[in-house]
Amino acid sequence: MSNIKDSISSGYYKEPVPHLTADSPFTSMMQRFHFAAEILDLDEGMFKYLSSPEKVVMVSIPITMDDGRIEVFEGYRVIHNSILGPSKGGIRYADDVTLDEVKALAAWMTWKCAVVNVPFGGAKGGVKVDPKNLSKPELERLTRRYTSNMFDVFGPDRDIPAPDMNTNDQIMAWIMDTYSMKQNKTETAVVTGKPIILGGSKGRKEATGRGVVTSTLAALSTLKISPSTTSIVVQGFGNVGSVSAKLMYEQGAKVIAISDISGGYYNKEGIDIPEAMHYSQTHGYSLEGFEGADPITNQELLELECDVLIPAAKEDQINKDNAPKIKARIISEGANGPVTANADKILEENGVMVIPDILANAGGVTVSYFEWVQDRHGYFWTEERVNRRLNRMMRESFDNLFIVSEKYSITLRQAAYVYAIDRVATTLKLRGIYA
Ligand code: GLU
Repeated sequence: MSNIKDSISSGYYKEPVPHLTADSPFTSMMQRFHFAAEILDLDEGMFKYLSSPEKVVMVSIPITMDDGRIEVFEGYRVIHNSILGPSKGGIRYADDVTLDEVKALAAWMTWKCAVVNVPFGGAKGGVKVDPKNLSKPELERLTRRYTSNMFDVFGPDRDIPAPDMNTNDQIMAWIMDTYSMKQNKTETAVVTGKPIILGGSKGRKEATGRGVVTSTLAALSTLKISPSTTSIVVQGFGNVGSVSAKLMYEQGAKVIAISDISGGYYNKEGIDIPEAMHYSQTHGYSLEGFEGADPITNQELLELECDVLIPAAKEDQINKDNAPKIKARIISEGANGPVTANADKILEENGVMVIPDILANAGGVTVSYFEWVQDRHGYFWTEERVNRRLNRMMRESFDNLFIVSEKYSITLRQAAYVYAIDRVATTLKLRGIYA
């Protein structure tokens, strides 16, 4: 396996290796991939294959702004792997999004789909834009032009986008409509996370938070802790963070701290989450000025003593510098990549159980799969059915990883990579390489 170790630095990639900072999401992904490859004794060819994205598409997106100026944005779509099925993954709009980040996120989607046994490969898209700086018509033109430029990439049997950071059901509706117009027929299954009236699935909006909670409850039960006695800290109060906080609150847990871009809010007696959600919804989706808790910094929030910490904001929040100060017993990764690879060992040594992102937040893509199935059947499920199936799949996936982690005496994260990579590699061996 020493060759595999060397391959990371000597550059086997088809794509040029991006500039890697110590904590870059791509480095974190590769370090964990590398560890699992060693456990599985993956041969070198397979390692090369699975560490190279299948396709990297970069487009420029010119749009006419409301004042008549032409502005040009940069957009990406990375298909990491489509061995298990059409590639699947969200599109994020952020002015600091990079190709390196999108590549890591695309690979995470491959592993995530494999972990929850949905028949999809992994992809991710990004547009370098802060959508807050665009009017609604500008955002629509940007989305339509991005979709048009990606027309050959997207498709219900090829590559299926979904919402991610700063994108939502309206943006998915524009993608669906643009693709359908170019096809001359309505093609609902080209995108998931759509409004329900356009073929979206009931329960899709809450699915990621619901999956975070199902896997957190499964972890608590392995530690024989009752949810009603737990204290919870949630970083991020967007869709994933707020739904996770609400569902844990409904389990009787005490949510002692929450945060959003305006800062952290701490109340050791527990925060009234429905009230916080109402406050945020009626104040432009911001907790600024929320009086049900005392203000704290984001850093203080992460380091609070609690049973469960749910980082549901961004990548790289827990790194080697603050990992030694984390006092949570369980970290349930609502966001993609909130813990850097070089923090893994520190958390492990300190006995913190980490439910990895590729399991914890897989509820979103799981219900995306349900949405795609419903669109293709033209038959729609009740919310109760969606939630029941989601809970079952998340619980089964947790149990599968738990067995792998016991078998090899490894962490749940390592088990998730081992399980996922094994699944993709086994499928590739059966399919073989097309020549
Ligand atoms: N963006 C979400 C994720 O990172 C959902 C992807 C999807 O549903 O395709 O898992």
